[in-house]
Amino acid sequence: MPELPEVETIRRTLVEHVRDVKIEEIKLIWPAAVCGWEDKAFEELVTGRRIRTIDRRGKYLLIRLDEDLTLIAHMRMTGRLNYYPDHQEPEKHTHVVFRLEHGEVHFSDVRKFGRIQAIPTPLCFSGSSLGKLGPEPLESEFTPGVLKERFGKKKLSIKAALLDQHVLAGLGNIYVDESLFQAGISPVRGVDTLTEEEILKLHQAIQNVLQAGIDAQGTSFRDYRDANGEKGSFERELHVYGRGGEPCKSCGQTLDRIRLAGRTTVYCARCQR
Ligand SMILES: [Zn+2]
Repeated sequence: MPELPEVETIRRTLVEHVRDVKIEEIKLIWPAAVCGWEDKAFEELVTGRRIRTIDRRGKYLLIRLDEDLTLIAHMRMTGRLNYYPDHQEPEKHTHVVFRLEHGEVHFSDVRKFGRIQAIPTPLCFSGSSLGKLGPEPLESEFTPGVLKERFGKKKLSIKAALLDQHVLAGLGNIYVDESLFQAGISPVRGVDTLTEEEILKLHQAIQNVLQAGIDAQGTSFRDYRDANGEKGSFERELHVYGRGGEPCKSCGQTLDRIRLAGRTTVYCARCQR
């Protein structure tokens, strides 16, 4: 599933092709991928508008069109936004085609959970699930104090708390497991048991791991590709995610694989306390 580093990489690779480019035609191949509008109404609403820029909030992309309209794209499990410089025949799982002045953008999704929502820009945060998201982990407002405050008095495992997008935006299974490994904290610990020092370490680890993920253009463990169809390379730097049963890269002990917060969780019982 694309997490913050993957969605940020899609944003960066897509915006360079589409900034200030006009949308000339929309093809809704699987209209259910678009929520909130009837097919014809959506086509009329978006056709002829220019893409101004693309922002990101958590795992959501915000495609800013002129006249104060935003397309919120959520990739969920396997959603992709691909840019093609020339006409491209839709693939089996392409659901929406944006034909631009220059090139095309295809929204495709094998699992069909991804969605595109059109919303007036002033209502972006009040009229959608974006308004309830926790802080952006790479912004300066995100401090160890904020992390502590977001955990509050919750009686959750640290794993469950970090997966909760209302606590902190953008993390999923890969970057939660990697952040906890780097911080040396066991995923089964309750958030209410963390010391000040552990909160500091965790805050730093989250920022380090996300930044390293962006620098490597994301993790292409399964389906993820950037807007140019390229894979990321962060899977080479993974310490725990996807490595259950293999030796810890730090101490050599076999990594534990457990089920926690409904997700497969891998950690080193020796390095993470
Ligand atoms: Zn270890």
